[in-house]
Amino acid sequence: MDWTDAVVDFADTPEQATFRTEVRTFIERNLPEQLVARPEEFSAFGMAEPGPERREALKRWRAALVERGWIAPAWPKEYGGADLSPMEQFILSETFAETRAPRLGVHDVGSTIMVHGTDEQKREHLPPLVRGDTRWCQGYSEPGSGSDLASLQTRAVRDGDDFVINGQKIWTSDAHNANWIFALVRTDPEAPKHRGITYLLLSMKSPGIAVRPLHQMHGGSEFNEVFFEDVRVPVKNAVGEINRGWYVGATHLDFERSSIGSAVGNEQTLDALRAFLVSERGAGSGRSRLGRVDAPRLQLADRYVEAAVARTLSQRIISMQARGLVPNYEASMSKVFGTELGQRIYRTAVQLMGPYGGLTDHESAHTPMRARWSTLFLRSQAFTIEGGTSEIQRNVIATRGLGLPRG
Ligand SMILES: Cc1cc2nc3c(=O)[nH]c(=O)nc-3n(C[C@H](O)[C@H](O)[C@H](O)COP(=O)(O)OP(=O)(O)OC[C@H]3O[C@@H](n4cnc5c(N)ncnc54)[C@H](O)[C@@H]3O)c2cc1C
Repeated sequence: MDWTDAVVDFADTPEQATFRTEVRTFIERNLPEQLVARPEEFSAFGMAEPGPERREALKRWRAALVERGWIAPAWPKEYGGADLSPMEQFILSETFAETRAPRLGVHDVGSTIMVHGTDEQKREHLPPLVRGDTRWCQGYSEPGSGSDLASLQTRAVRDGDDFVINGQKIWTSDAHNANWIFALVRTDPEAPKHRGITYLLLSMKSPGIAVRPLHQMHGGSEFNEVFFEDVRVPVKNAVGEINRGWYVGATHLDFERSSIGSAVGNEQTLDALRAFLVSERGAGSGRSRLGRVDAPRLQLADRYVEAAVARTLSQRIISMQARGLVPNYEASMSKVFGTELGQRIYRTAVQLMGPYGGLTDHESAHTPMRARWSTLFLRSQAFTIEGGTSEIQRNVIATRGLGLPRG
């Protein structure tokens, strides 16, 4: 492993400091008060649809971000972006996280269309994506194809100017709200598995698409099964070359990949937990209702140390990107450490709550912070699965970082 890239320069240059101030001022001037995330207002289901007042505030916030090009800050200005450098994107993400401003972004599908799409696809899809008029979901995984995604079986057969799709996707986040889906489908079953796949754009209103919700153990329902039965899609909805969709799907623009937002989020979670414990133990003259928490107290100290490590891993990635290097196994190190740290934080939290830690009824007066800790403890089990499992990240570190042979 080459440690020379681990050098990190923390100090802002004068230009970066000016940009940081610019972002803060923008947030102070434009962020509607009701959108600032507050731990005490924790709602157990982050993906619940907002009420009318919040929807209106989100609309205003989005309009302000669209005007600055900060919805898709890495994109060229002609597509509604701001052409920010990796370091500016990092500062933007960090400042949004620090001020708890919601980071409205565009789905990755936009970058893929920008790189591989036709002019017609760009005109049709990019502006409504930036404005927030379209909502996309991602049709990669199938019941038998997750980590080994290239084995996917959903079939697309050519019939004149259309493809006819049959098959099933699973774990499709937000499919119940989305009006578009992009899907990897098999167009040539005879070809080697990576070479017979096409990347297609489909309206969720196409006849023959059915969405069935999957329920998660934390009580939410963020993802779904999506079924395709004789769904017709125009061939012109293929992005990039037919049968080359695997490589189209692997496109990632060089946008900010440091996960600094999650690193700052972990620190804020720890601060909220610490503040809660201080107020619980400080309240009144008697013992806290949480009882003795001495041993887990030491765990809280460990989590603070680890959160500092997670921030450094993020800083290393951005420092590489700023020097024109492409993070590879370094991004896997940050993902595996950051997500497993997230799980440890919520485990520590429920332990610190003692007997109250297991309560999940977020309306009960006995449940600390509306069941924030127990709910997120349950939700955090998915952190190390979504976006590539911890085992797959460790494989990347072992082979590409350590140069070990494939297992
Ligand atoms: C909350 C959530 C949201 C998601 N959203 C989406 C979405 O919007 N769209 C979408 O397409 N998918 C989505 N996914 C699916 C996600 O990408 C897959 O769950 C993930 O890639 C793992 O695939 P799998 O579930 O099929 O598990 P499998 O690949 O079957 O893995 C099972 C176990 O075997 C291990 N394993 C597999 N291969 C190896 C190997 N080579 N070496 C060592 N261990 C291995 C895995 O680490 C895992 O522990 C989501 C998942 C979650 C949890």
